[in-house]
Amino acid sequence: MSTTTETYKCFIGGEWTDAASGETMEVIAPATGETIAEVPRCGAEDVDRAVAAANKVLPAWLEKTPKERSELLHKLADVIEENAEELAQLESLNVGKPLLASRDEMPFSADNLRFFAGAARHLEGKSAGEYIEGYTSLIRREPLGIVAGVCPWNYPLMMAVWKIGPALAAGNVQIVKPAEQTPLSLLRFAQLAQEVIPEGVLQVVTGDGVPAGQRLVEHPDVRLVSLTGDVETGKTIARTAADTLKRVHLELGGKAPMVVFDDADPEAVAEGIRLAGYWNSGQDCTAGSRVIAGPKIYDALLEALVPQVESLKVGDPLNDETEMGSVISQSQQERILGFLERANKATVLTGGSAGSDKGFFVQPTLVTDVQQDDEIVQREVFGPVVTVQRFADDAQAIEWANGVRYGLAASVWTRDVARALNAVRKLQFGTVWVNDHLLPISSELPHGGYKQSGYGKDMSIYSMEEYTQIKHAAFKL
Ligand code: NAD
Repeated sequence: MSTTTETYKCFIGGEWTDAASGETMEVIAPATGETIAEVPRCGAEDVDRAVAAANKVLPAWLEKTPKERSELLHKLADVIEENAEELAQLESLNVGKPLLASRDEMPFSADNLRFFAGAARHLEGKSAGEYIEGYTSLIRREPLGIVAGVCPWNYPLMMAVWKIGPALAAGNVQIVKPAEQTPLSLLRFAQLAQEVIPEGVLQVVTGDGVPAGQRLVEHPDVRLVSLTGDVETGKTIARTAADTLKRVHLELGGKAPMVVFDDADPEAVAEGIRLAGYWNSGQDCTAGSRVIAGPKIYDALLEALVPQVESLKVGDPLNDETEMGSVISQSQQERILGFLERANKATVLTGGSAGSDKGFFVQPTLVTDVQQDDEIVQREVFGPVVTVQRFADDAQAIEWANGVRYGLAASVWTRDVARALNAVRKLQFGTVWVNDHLLPISSELPHGGYKQSGYGKDMSIYSMEEYTQIKHAAFKL
């Protein structure tokens, strides 16, 4: 693992620059605790510089045709594909996630950009016509102008790409702020892509949520902020954005239930939980963190599940064999272990501690004997911790599954189609998978929450529409 410290700059107005204050912040490799880089700690002044640069280039960018915007997105996808291994290595180092996971994210990110490259040329709407006697009306779908993307640390490059694709495809210019813990892959991507990015069309500003992120939300010229992050951050951003009535797109936390009916195959479900609960150390907003199992399958499921969880290969994220790396930071490690300490009436079937003195690790953990209103069932742990509850009947399963403030993703495990369809109808989540969890996602299909998991969709044409505004023009004949 690298121990050299690299110095990065941020990307404003087509130039690589320091923060106006000259301040920097350290970037840590969480699997070792070592400092690997420093990046500018930008503040409000730097955000204002980026907005000024965006305002300067916006008129020329608005003249670009869908074909030209599409070509840019294809070139950005090429950059990811051509540098996939380097970007994956950097992502693993900075996030502490296994290479097998980071390598998986690069082709998917490139595919996402290609989907929006296609979508840029295929925006449909109502046909022009005489809806009012004596007038011809036409509908225009126009970009918003300057938009901002505020990103999380769990999938740093991929979450940024999910914002870049629809924003640029729709004809906006964009300022992206990576999470303070994980700016490296986005900065490196921008370095690799600098020749193809028209000046000021895509800018990267590094810094803390407050003041850098906050200034993006406050700035009156920024017309939309898309956040992927915590529920509380989403609420703060929505409140701040109200002052300038900018559009807000919120992809927030989750607490995904995996509802396992008695007729499911316990071995297949256990394999599914091994992936859904522990992929990316459970630091996934759609992670299957609550197993809600039927009375008859419960014992057989636990019997199959414990060895599955214990078989996970935990260790150095840069080792090809590793299946689970560290968590993102010391504070996140302490937060996760704090949930386990407070759940003192629960039974820890496996895991339950850090498991390593070096770096910020948490063992894959399985917990039973929890109640529906326990903190560990109600709140997002965002770590490799899965709880298992035993329900009495189907109605209780759905009630428990829905009985949290989140509504991002859920899964149902059954061989009975009617039971599955009924559950899909009743579950209040933006995604419901049947007999699988986590990986069935695709650039064509929307991803986004219900309830306090937020509003607005990532991926799919629905996402691109949110980066546009609709104009009606009426011509008197
Ligand atoms: P976070 O909310 O702490 O930070 C996310 C981003 O918001 C960071 O870039 C941060 O700097 C910025 N930020 C913080 N305060 C801000 C403010 N007042 N104004 C503007 N920007 C601000 O979240 P995190 O800890 O980086 O990520 C983990 C969270 O993200 C989890 O809750 C997880 O569920 C969620 N998440 C959701 C999805 C989804 O698609 N719904 C995907 C990934 C992660």
